Amino acid sequence: MTADTDVEQSKMLVIGKDVLADGVVAVRLADPDGGRIPAWEAGSHIDIIIDESTVRQYSLCGDPADDTCLTIAVLREEDGRGGSRWVHDTLQVGDLVSIAGPRNNFTFEAADSYLFVAGGIGITPLLPMMRAAHDAGAQWRLLYGGRSRASMAFAAELSDRYEDRIALRPQDEYGLLDLASALDSMPDGTHVYCCGPEPLLQAIEALCREREGLVLHVERFAAKAIPVDALDDTFEVELHRSGSTITVGADETLLDAVLRSGVDTPFSCREGTCGTCEVAVVEGVPDHRDSVLTEDEQAANDCMMICVSRSCTSRLTLDL
Ligand SMILES: Cc1cc2nc3c(=O)[nH]c(=O)nc-3n(C[C@H](O)[C@H](O)[C@H](O)COP(=O)(O)OP(=O)(O)OC[C@H]3O[C@@H](n4cnc5c(N)ncnc54)[C@H](O)[C@@H]3O)c2cc1C
Repeated sequence: MTADTDVEQSKMLVIGKDVLADGVVAVRLADPDGGRIPAWEAGSHIDIIIDESTVRQYSLCGDPADDTCLTIAVLREEDGRGGSRWVHDTLQVGDLVSIAGPRNNFTFEAADSYLFVAGGIGITPLLPMMRAAHDAGAQWRLLYGGRSRASMAFAAELSDRYEDRIALRPQDEYGLLDLASALDSMPDGTHVYCCGPEPLLQAIEALCREREGLVLHVERFAAKAIPVDALDDTFEVELHRSGSTITVGADETLLDAVLRSGVDTPFSCREGTCGTCEVAVVEGVPDHRDSVLTEDEQAANDCMMICVSRSCTSRLTLDL
């Protein structure tokens, strides 16, 4: 099954590829005809469409005001299924590459104070946010961890540009990030934006649950593990707009059942991380298994990611 092809897909020309740090390359993409690139905001990512079954998401880490090129930075994941290795080993300057998006699940909200917390390649979506916070005159700090100094992309550039707002904390020099002290040092009303590996995200989520007055936003690059304590059941889904009702089998996803019924709907990662397949819920209670919606958004039960989520009720009605 291929990723949906109707969502703002375009061909881009690779105009630059540079090593930024150990295992990290930056890739710059421009319109092949010299036109403007699509508008985007801090927190956005694009899909890189490697082939029909391999689509990977990459955060835009350049300047949204630059309408001539999109920049991504990609960490080589040696143990992965090959998406990042393809970017490192195969994609070259002068190639054309298909992209979809930009799309944004990590919206940058206006505030007086920000704490940015990055783990490794999780620095990418935070770069345009720091620029925006700085330009707006907000109070802000970055706590940035990584395995070693040499593995931390953009570290030197950030230190040069923002000096004492930046705390670089390579793990081989400092150990794990001191999240508690960083959070305690920020005033009430601070928006905390965090992106990095799952243990970092879980630690900051736990600490922020205990601290009223901080507003936490996280972005997951990989799906979080969802404990499923029973076998999946079949359930019925009424497709409100198309007027049909389908049965989702215990061994298939809701997305596959929808596509099987002939209804075309966008999707991409199939892991609940990219947000492309979001659908509004008209009636019923979803069993949320995605890594995109916040706890509050999941509790509202008014939308769901149909690539991984299922149903708590025997019937759901979706705006499809
Ligand atoms: C919104 C968003 C933004 C992103 N932005 C960036 C970015 O700016 N830069 C960046 O480098 N990446 C980013 N990513 C991650 C990126 O999309 C890819 O997931 C990443 O490049 C790895 O792809 P891959 O095919 O090499 O590895 P994948 O196959 O995706 O594997 C990633 C890791 O998961 C583990 N894994 C893989 N398959 C399995 C399996 N079957 N069972 C258990 N573990 C497994 C492996 O340990 C591997 O290291 C982003 C992801 C999202 C959702």
